[in-house]
Amino acid sequence: MRIDRAKLHRIYRYWIDWLYPNICPCCGKYIDHDADFCGECKSAITPYTDEKDIEGIDKYTSYCVYDHNIDKAILTFKKTADGNSYYAFACGIAEAARKTGIAEDIDLIVPIPITRKKMKERGYNQTELIAKELRFLLNVPYANVMIKVKDTKEQKTLGRTERAENLSGAFGISDKAPDISGKRLLLIDDVCTTGSTLTEAAGVLRIGGAGKVYAISFAKTPNKKSNEEAAS
Ligand SMILES: [Zn+2]
Repeated sequence: MRIDRAKLHRIYRYWIDWLYPNICPCCGKYIDHDADFCGECKSAITPYTDEKDIEGIDKYTSYCVYDHNIDKAILTFKKTADGNSYYAFACGIAEAARKTGIAEDIDLIVPIPITRKKMKERGYNQTELIAKELRFLLNVPYANVMIKVKDTKEQKTLGRTERAENLSGAFGISDKAPDISGKRLLLIDDVCTTGSTLTEAAGVLRIGGAGKVYAISFAKTPNKKSNEEAAS
């Protein structure tokens, strides 16, 4: 018998809601156990409708535009593992994956990693938390395929060329990674600005044998303004 992971996860979320009531990551209002945002905040979110080619990525999209309607949820997400933001972000990425057909063409979800040092300081990788939720929503497994081997400067402080240099050699394939030869991967990140992080990561995954590399971010900064990407 095939286990319906999405259904099991909904049941889990229903019960956990009694202990840790679900809240809207934008305004903090109580919301249903399986909701991502409250109705008001959700209707204020600007959907991402642009198209952007990112070097090394077969297809890229984003759920929404990074603007003042969503910045509180993103800042909360960066600061804490509590609350609902990573579930809400996973819902957004899942929606974007279904809309673009990417959901039908992936074998594995791959989060953007953080360095060991950062992991020690913070205790978790936020993008991995999104991946853990997303695997239930898309019914596709996730794996920490990559490691971040180089501490990088905050991307938002750098210009376009400097960003690429800053990230060069930042990622490697983990010793514990599953075999990705010929696999169709979905790279996920919370915020995307120029796409240089995704390009660098995709390069490493292709060297590792990946067949296809898709990428979806939760939020995308407007194409001409690139000063808001948070460091990861
Ligand atoms: Zn709200």
